[in-house]
Amino acid sequence: MIVFDLQCAPQGHRFEGWFGSSSDYEDQLARGLVSCPSCGSAAVGKAVMAPNVGRKGNQLAIPASRGGAAAANPSPADATGVANVPLPPEAIAMFRAVAAMQAEAIKSSTWVGETFAEDARAMHYGEKEVAAIHGRATINEARELIEEGIAVAPLLVPVVPPEEAN
Ligand SMILES: [Zn+2]
Repeated sequence: MIVFDLQCAPQGHRFEGWFGSSSDYEDQLARGLVSCPSCGSAAVGKAVMAPNVGRKGNQLAIPASRGGAAAANPSPADATGVANVPLPPEAIAMFRAVAAMQAEAIKSSTWVGETFAEDARAMHYGEKEVAAIHGRATINEARELIEEGIAVAPLLVPVVPPEEAN
């Protein structure tokens, strides 16, 4: 499973969409099956996410051993290589910048704290029921998840754990 942060074109509502794969998403979108839960619009696209930034110069790291086709087309406009993007400092800064926006998105998700990486991985590999979660992961954990193709981007933004919110 993969989760995308989506946004409707008419009103900019943000919501999460879960799909079996990236091509599943493309397919469902093309058939008008993805609609905004707030206004019902089918004019939906991926919200701008932090992992799409920082893909410039030597920050672009697509291992030659993996996905030759992707490596042959390292266009910044090609967002399909998100899984291979490392986390440069400016991306971390970007995560912090969008934290406020994402706070809204995670209201419907469950805080899992320190077990986030473990839970996200278990869901990815079908060992656990898929649910919207957020929690704490180290940069290394996050990097590993991303390298495994697990879409964790919206969850990388530092958030205040419920137990520390007061
Ligand atoms: Zn909407």
